[in-house]
Amino acid sequence: EAKNEGPGSLKFYSKEIFERVSSLLNMEKDLRNAIKENQFILYFQPHISLETRGIRGVEALIRWVHPDRGIIAPFEFIPVLEETGLIIEVGKWVVEQVCHYISKNEFCDREEIGISFNVSPEQFKQKGFEKMLIDIVQKKGVDPKRLRIEVTESALMTDIEDSLNKLKVLNDFGFNISIDDFGTGYSSLSYLKKIPASHLKIDMSFVRGLPDNRDDVEIIKAIIALAKNLGKKTVAEGVETREQLECLDKFGVDEVQGYFFSKPIPKEDCMKYIERYHSDSYFK
Ligand code: C2E
Ligand code: MG
Ligand code: MG
Ligand code: MG
Repeated sequence: EAKNEGPGSLKFYSKEIFERVSSLLNMEKDLRNAIKENQFILYFQPHISLETRGIRGVEALIRWVHPDRGIIAPFEFIPVLEETGLIIEVGKWVVEQVCHYISKNEFCDREEIGISFNVSPEQFKQKGFEKMLIDIVQKKGVDPKRLRIEVTESALMTDIEDSLNKLKVLNDFGFNISIDDFGTGYSSLSYLKKIPASHLKIDMSFVRGLPDNRDDVEIIKAIIALAKNLGKKTVAEGVETREQLECLDKFGVDEVQGYFFSKPIPKEDCMKYIERYHSDSYFK
């Protein structure tokens, strides 16, 4: 392709590639340093139950506190962590951190509130992933019922047998399992029936279209019906408006999460949010 664009274009491309590669290498160096210097933190965003109207839990979402650039969102660095294999170490840190908060009652001492955390496909496909999780939970003396593992639909689909084996062990041990970004991958229905997940998390791309987009309305209704038939609960992510909330409530979604309630915020702020939360301010 570069050939058609005349002399000099090849040089242009190689310069671009060089810059991309060197910025990735820099990023990798910075990320190794970030691990050493503990520059990662977890933000939290509440999950609200539409059944009880109360806070059901929080999702832990990683942030990188860069010494020069400030707070960096996951889409900028998770792909590099995955490419370099560093996600294994950082992913383990996330689980340890979450367990630490629960075991010390630092995050909250209300039994009904659990923490969800995300697992990247690279992490999930590691041999011994399930053992790693169980070891940490046992070491910290945490009840796995307080934890919800979020793994994306596409991560589960890469090696179905392996996924089923791992999820069975984790589910038997007591973890809750949520299929993240549901609707964006392509689970076969017969396979979905076998996955011991307690929750399907409806991707926010569908929530965006509520209440007017007919396709999104139908897709969300279908996911909810499917979940009910399979004995699973549903969570809708990315709820930003009252109209979206009311629509999801009407359709029978079990839990909601989104900027309408709160953005992901630091632990202390989220603890305050939980203390001050009054369901009647949202549901009138
Ligand atoms: P996810 O697990 O699907 O998380 C939902 C994302 O949607 C979060 O972005 C959250 O901040 C954002 N969000 C929540 N409510 C709203 C809303 O109402 N409107 C909009 N526009 N966005 C909303 P975030 O924190 O940037 O995380 C992005 C993705 O990065 C996550 O998607 C997850 O796949 C990944 N990630 C985050 N933390 C971790 C982690 O600790 N480990 C791994 N492996 N991946 C993580
Ligand atoms: Mg998630
Ligand atoms: Mg999600
Ligand atoms: Mg998503």
